[in-house]
Amino acid sequence: MFHISKNKCVGCGLCEEKCPAKAISINNQGFAFIDQEKCIQCGLCVDICPQGASKNITEKLTFAIGTDDGKIIKQGEHIGESEYFSIWDYSEGKMAFREKRENIKYEEDETSSHGNPEKAKKVSSVLTGVDVIAGKIIGPNVVRMKKKYVPVIIREPSIDRVIEIIKENINEIVDEYHKQDRKAIILN
Ligand code: SF4
Ligand code: SF4
Repeated sequence: MFHISKNKCVGCGLCEEKCPAKAISINNQGFAFIDQEKCIQCGLCVDICPQGASKNITEKLTFAIGTDDGKIIKQGEHIGESEYFSIWDYSEGKMAFREKRENIKYEEDETSSHGNPEKAKKVSSVLTGVDVIAGKIIGPNVVRMKKKYVPVIIREPSIDRVIEIIKENINEIVDEYHKQDRKAIILN
């Protein structure tokens, strides 16, 4: 599935003009958008874009969103303090809810500036099969977690909106997923 990054697109309109399927339009926010029903997967928009904004996303990724109630992303505390992880599978532009996983309870040593390795290990034990973790705040254990997962910061509270933000920014998430030295990425 071809997807255009709103963070890279400058709205030049080259892809809109050249797309053989007339699948691309510039939306009212000023960036190009692909109508997936019309796209014939030719890849021309990838070749033509001066910004490298279009990408063929073939990856299937599993997301864990830290939450206490399944409706709001964990507020005020690190993702590792979440009661649950809401697990979602991304594929072909869609996010499908898979399950709710209960987090472990573990008292973190807040005096440690590098996080608690034992806690990171415990939390990881409930994140089997996960590729990306999403929270509002990620604690000092991010230095360990980022080796296993792409850490994503999203400050919107509603999980419905979080899901939309993930889909809108999938190019950046996939790029980070393939990096050796990952960083947490902040998405709006
Ligand atoms: S060619 Fe690239 S920068 Fe120009 S509108 Fe299309 S996606 Fe955006
Ligand atoms: S892959 Fe081809 S058909 Fe699909 S949006 Fe890009 S240029 Fe258009």
